[in-house]
Amino acid sequence: MLVGLEQLREDLHDLSPAADLHLHSVYSDGTFTPDQLAAIGRELGFVALALTDHDTVEGCSEMAQACNALGLQFIPGVELTTEFNNREIHVLGYFIDPTHTDLNDLLLTCQLARRERVKRIVHKLHQINVPLKGELVFEIAQCNSPGRPHIARALVRSGFASNYEEAFEKYLKKGRPAWVPKLKVGTAEAIELVHAAGGLAFLAHPGISNVEDCLDTLIRMGFDGIECFHSKHSPEQSERYTQVAISRGLLISGGSDCHGYNKDKPLIGGVRLPMRYVNAIVHRHAGKPR
Ligand code: AMP
Ligand code: ZN
Ligand code: FE
Ligand code: FE
Repeated sequence: MLVGLEQLREDLHDLSPAADLHLHSVYSDGTFTPDQLAAIGRELGFVALALTDHDTVEGCSEMAQACNALGLQFIPGVELTTEFNNREIHVLGYFIDPTHTDLNDLLLTCQLARRERVKRIVHKLHQINVPLKGELVFEIAQCNSPGRPHIARALVRSGFASNYEEAFEKYLKKGRPAWVPKLKVGTAEAIELVHAAGGLAFLAHPGISNVEDCLDTLIRMGFDGIECFHSKHSPEQSERYTQVAISRGLLISGGSDCHGYNKDKPLIGGVRLPMRYVNAIVHRHAGKPR
């Protein structure tokens, strides 16, 4: 079945029960607590939410409780940074068991690497005469999974950048003087680990990951689904990935990738994933052998 633009517009503007399956909290680089995300999600009329912090599942139990109290369906998740063919591929794991040993081992390794990376970035900043205090970054981050958004906030607060975007433009993005690559696990390995932890693996925001020439190879690695709807996808991209997913028998996901108040207004509410897609994910997960 092909999904036409008309159908897509209906999906995107549909105010019937919907979900946001891509949210970041203060446990990684978002600015909202899981409680706040649940409350805002409820306010915006969502009926299901997933927490997908970078390299951590620490916020999942808090968010599960908050969603439960508000009558919202909750899907525990995580976003892993992986590498395939020199490309950075983000993998979303849904329904992962937050206590799974191997998954937690990987998450701890990634978190440690993130903290070391912050120190290396700060060191690089010092080398170009930007004396940012490393302690300030960790004070702002207050989590085990610090990232560039925390450094950007510290740069703004210390007057080394006039705003969040500028901090990335001047110092932090690839090709800028303080750029340091992140620890990345292989894409296939990440998918395997998500599966081992009882979860379903989704290819995150393909529209912004430069995967056009390797999409087929990636799909064959064992992804269960594609994040077709994302704040940074155009309607045409969403339609195309939806068609790819349907034609390959893959599940369809979507979310705002909200990080809270980092720059403009929070992205939550901008993507409303129709519940039939969520139900298909839940159904597939329920039928998975464990
Ligand atoms: P990290 O995981 O430390 O590499 O940081 C990645 C996060 O930084 C992303 O999830 C975005 O929220 C943010 N980010 C990356 N690039 C930019 C950019 N050019 N401008 C603003 N935010 C960015
Ligand atoms: Zn992020
Ligand atoms: Fe991502
Ligand atoms: Fe994300």
